[in-house]
Amino acid sequence: MQRAWVEVDLDAVVHNATSIQRRSGKPLLPMVKADAYGMGAIEVCRALEPLDPWAFGIAALAEAAELRAAGIARRILVFTPLLPSDFPEARRLSVTPTLGTADAIRSWIDSGGGAWHLGVDTGMHRAGVEWWRVGELAALAAESPPEGAFTHFHSADTNDASLEEQQMRFRLSLEQLGARPRILHAENSPAVERQTPSPWDVVRPGVFLYGVGGGRGSRLDPAPVAHLRARVVEIHEVNGGESVSYGATWRAPGKRRVATLAIGYADGYRRLFSSLGQVILRGRRAPVVGRVTMDMTMIDVTGISCEVGDVATLLGRAGDDHLDINQMCDAVDLLPYELLVGLKLRAPRVYVRGGSIAAAE
Ligand SMILES: *Cc1c(COP(=O)(O)O)cnc(C)c1O
Repeated sequence: MQRAWVEVDLDAVVHNATSIQRRSGKPLLPMVKADAYGMGAIEVCRALEPLDPWAFGIAALAEAAELRAAGIARRILVFTPLLPSDFPEARRLSVTPTLGTADAIRSWIDSGGGAWHLGVDTGMHRAGVEWWRVGELAALAAESPPEGAFTHFHSADTNDASLEEQQMRFRLSLEQLGARPRILHAENSPAVERQTPSPWDVVRPGVFLYGVGGGRGSRLDPAPVAHLRARVVEIHEVNGGESVSYGATWRAPGKRRVATLAIGYADGYRRLFSSLGQVILRGRRAPVVGRVTMDMTMIDVTGISCEVGDVATLLGRAGDDHLDINQMCDAVDLLPYELLVGLKLRAPRVYVRGGSIAAAE
């Protein structure tokens, strides 16, 4: 019997992708890096194939190798700069690199060329050519015209003015290039939530596909994708004044019934939830008490008639109740992206379609 697992609702991923596509009015370039934010890149790509995405976005060649081996034949863009020594492997995997320096573009052309996208830095200062220096690459771009060009927003989730300024810089940078690349792209999930329709050619949603976003007056609300479950493995009576877990940070205020769940931070249930998290068990909320440990987490089940073997929900839906990832993370000052990515640590993923379990990994 599984001790702890992540249910990944692929129908919800498709639903979220469809609503992004509608709102932007443009084809998708779904970001499936980091194993699709911990949800499983192969399964997510297969689920999204029927939407005919323009390409998939990743960060590392190993991710492309995995997708190619699984038979995903669609265009793949890699968004973290590759080193020239990786170019032969990129070509072998039919991966489109994003390039942002004269040296990298020169090496790409000299080692055989092929489709590439120009990365333009409009304020993030992470990767890509500075927007005001794009003209310096015009000759190289004329020699091997990029299929596309893109930029990335640093504060699309919090700041409209910076988004506008970055888009203006992107437009100005493109004027220095001579010919307009065929495919221009810029928007991550929060940017798509903000502007409709998209002013660019494809959109690059990531986290929204996996159930994070909406709120704060957004007209798009993602369906939850990740549901984290674990079993009750022991139940104890704890006397008033006794402590629970490492560091004795929590003490029972009176006689308490405490259940031990077979899940811990090695499964991605973060230590930040120590004495702050909540769990759904038998339709009731039970608080986490004491520190989350590597393999086990304790909850106060006083007054809840639960038994060993019961399934508790630590994230996502259970019956009519819902532990929303955005709210959960806000409460402990954790980035929802980090919570999702951590879920691939040890807990196996179980895939759900049409409300039923489709395949276990
Ligand atoms: C990760 C990433 C995205 C997606 O961002 P979200 O905030 O998850 O939607 C888009 N573009 C690039 C270049 C990225 O690295």
